Amino acid sequence: MRLYLIHLGVMQPGEIPVPSYLVQTNDGANILIDTGWPRSFVDCPINPIGLTIEMRPEDALASRLAEIGLHPSDIDYLVCTHLDDDHSGNHDMFESAELIIQRRHYDLAKSGHPRFAANRAFWGHPSLRYRPIDGDFDLAPGVKLLETSGHVPGHQSVLVRLPVTGAVLLAADAVMHSSMADAETRRLFVTDMQDEASIRRSTQKISDIALSENAAFVVYGHDAQQWSTLRHSPEFYD
Ligand SMILES: [Zn+2]
Repeated sequence: MRLYLIHLGVMQPGEIPVPSYLVQTNDGANILIDTGWPRSFVDCPINPIGLTIEMRPEDALASRLAEIGLHPSDIDYLVCTHLDDDHSGNHDMFESAELIIQRRHYDLAKSGHPRFAANRAFWGHPSLRYRPIDGDFDLAPGVKLLETSGHVPGHQSVLVRLPVTGAVLLAADAVMHSSMADAETRRLFVTDMQDEASIRRSTQKISDIALSENAAFVVYGHDAQQWSTLRHSPEFYD
C-alpha cells in the first residue's frame, strides 16, 4: 500500500498548501482524497476570499496524477473530506469513481448552502455517483474514514495504515495546522462553522486515534511548515 501527498498549489499570503492525497491499496484500488481548487485557476490567480491562489500547470491534479502514471479514469474512489472551494474544484473529472461523502455534509451542500455554491458545477455534476455514509467507515483494508464534524457538518478525515511507515492520519480541515492540534486550547479558524463543541470533539478524536494507532504522523490540512517537511508525489510513503 502507498500514500501519495499531492501538492496542488498554494494560497497567499503564507504559502498555505492545497493538498490532495492518493492511497493505492495492495489489491490495486486507487483512492483519491479531495481535488483542490478548480483547474481553471492555473496561471489565473483570482481572489475569491481575500487569498491569492497560485497554481502552476504542474499543480493541476491531472498533471500530478500523470506524474505517477494515472489518468482520472483510474480512480476507483474519491473521498470527499468536505466540499469547500479548495477541496472540491475538480470532482467532475472523476465520473468513473464512486464518491464517498458523509450524508450529513452532502445533504447540507445539496440543500443549497451558500458556502458550497461556488464549486457546485464540479461537485454537483450530474454524471457523478455518490455513496453517502454515516459516521466512521472502513473503505478498504487499512483505510478508514473518520467522521470529524466541526469545521463543517459532516467533515471527514482519513486513517491510513501503511506497512512500513505505520499509521498516518490525514486530518484535512478538522485540524488545519499543528498549532490547532490540542483540543482544549486550540483556536477556531475564521472558516470554522460556529460549532465549537464539535470542533473540539473532532480534534480530540484525531489525537486519541493517533495515540491508539501509534501513528507515525498526522498530516494537518493547511500547514505550510509541516507540508515543506513531507514527501510529495511522485514520491510516496509505503
Ligand atoms: Zn481547506
